[in-house]
Amino acid sequence: MRIMKRRRTLTPGQKAFVHAEAGGVCEICGNLVPVDGPGVEYDHRLQRWLDPDRLDELANFRPVHVRCHLRKTAQDAALRAKTKRQAALAPGVKRPKSAISSAPFRRDLRNKMNGRVEKR
Ligand SMILES: [Zn+2]
Repeated sequence: MRIMKRRRTLTPGQKAFVHAEAGGVCEICGNLVPVDGPGVEYDHRLQRWLDPDRLDELANFRPVHVRCHLRKTAQDAALRAKTKRQAALAPGVKRPKSAISSAPFRRDLRNKMNGRVEKR
């Protein structure tokens, strides 16, 4: 298992920069959003788990409302779960079960109790 780097926390200066880059609006609903405080969170545009080293760059952040962020995070979680389920099904990971094939019984012959085989 890969060791995840610690999640980045933005400084007030970084938040101000990212907020200004976004024009002061939530990129999910398009309404004005505060720079800091309980109503705003800084979202990773591309989900961080895809590439923790690269996706913690400032350019991947955007200000969003807490309410908007919750909805997006739920969608991301569903997508992440589906991705992992499908990866587990990739060819070579698991061989499907199959019946062992054997020669069919000959219907024109019969075994006697004394060990002889005769035609029906
Ligand atoms: Zn919003």
